[in-house]
Amino acid sequence: MVRRDPVGFLREEYEQLVDKELDWKLRVLEGPSTPRCVVDGKKVLMLCSNNYLSLSNHSALKKAAIDAVRTHGAGSGSVRPIAGNMDLHMELERRLARFKGAEGSLVYQTGFAANAGLIPQLADAGDIIVSDELNHGSIIDGVRLSKADRAVYRHCDVEDLRVVLKKVEEHVPAYRRILIITDGVFSMDGDIAPVDKIAPVAHDHGAMVYVDDAHGEGVLGDGGRGIVSHFRLKRDDVHVEMGTFSKAFGVVGGHVSGTRDLVNFGYNKSRTWLLSGSHPPAVVAACIAAIDVLETEPKHVRNLWSNTDYFRKGIRDLGLDTGKSQTPIIPVMVGDSGAAKSFSSRLFELGVFALPIVFPMVSKDKARIRTIMNAALTKKDLDEALGAFEKVGKELKLI
Ligand SMILES: *Cc1c(COP(=O)(O)O)cnc(C)c1O
Repeated sequence: MVRRDPVGFLREEYEQLVDKELDWKLRVLEGPSTPRCVVDGKKVLMLCSNNYLSLSNHSALKKAAIDAVRTHGAGSGSVRPIAGNMDLHMELERRLARFKGAEGSLVYQTGFAANAGLIPQLADAGDIIVSDELNHGSIIDGVRLSKADRAVYRHCDVEDLRVVLKKVEEHVPAYRRILIITDGVFSMDGDIAPVDKIAPVAHDHGAMVYVDDAHGEGVLGDGGRGIVSHFRLKRDDVHVEMGTFSKAFGVVGGHVSGTRDLVNFGYNKSRTWLLSGSHPPAVVAACIAAIDVLETEPKHVRNLWSNTDYFRKGIRDLGLDTGKSQTPIIPVMVGDSGAAKSFSSRLFELGVFALPIVFPMVSKDKARIRTIMNAALTKKDLDEALGAFEKVGKELKLI
């Protein structure tokens, strides 16, 4: 009998990643996530957080969190279907549904839990899921948990979606349900899915539309109401509007909005929701406060977009390429992985924190520095950042 080392692979596989420089080197943020912050002991401009509106450090959210600890304690005590469904959780769902103009909303512990818990219930054996080829990993894992067949269409390509759906219709035996899933905003390129064109195609085929709007929440649409508002769609054009409180809302938690039927279905079928403890009161109260801020302080979303336009134009004026960016996610295309890594470390030395995105997250020749704009950055901050991009761009002979 072979005597195998049961855990030897742990180090072997880790070391393979280190050899290829694909291991994550964790940076430490010392203090709150603010535009000027301290990372690994160094004062830097933060250009890679998802905290688009700087709500994570907003006084109203912090106060709501502290107050909720005083009134409701540190934890919820259970899963929501048993004893962990507090008045705060119900209020958050009511407030979110009102913000979205939806019949109902359902809050999950995270966006990942929403995708992993709901997708496999919406489509099962005898059904088919049709996905954009660049969908987020949490969608991919949700799809993997389903027994449904899968098909993929080319990134944001509605013509290809039509071709795929035509084949789907010809399948024998006929599929029971068709579920089309796409990210709303794609996190690597900052481009927006053509949901206005996907919806009518889906309608022609009697397909459900599921949009993961994690990077569109608090960013796109009227007052940050997301992609349905951005395209002025009808509520029933998008059957499942999924999102997260962990990005522009500045806290944590996933959610879906749609009809009352969707919420009742999710409450009873999503295993990630049924079998995992509910949010602590501080989290829920801070999420409610984030909705309050979005409803009453429109300046944050406005500032985010004016910073986005200013910085994207500044980068392009330097002669650098921002790819397909239409949103506050602004990639600065560099080329190969090595160049992207040197670019990022030089930026860090110059006091600008922006991470390189390299293969296998993007294709080998499309490595980039991904910047993410923030409402609280000042023009002075942005000029300083542009100065650093110019300097490093010249050093690396990209401009
Ligand atoms: C971040 C992200 C998620 C996960 O959301 P969490 O609430 O952080 O778990 C899901 N989908 C997309 C597209 C995302 O960008």
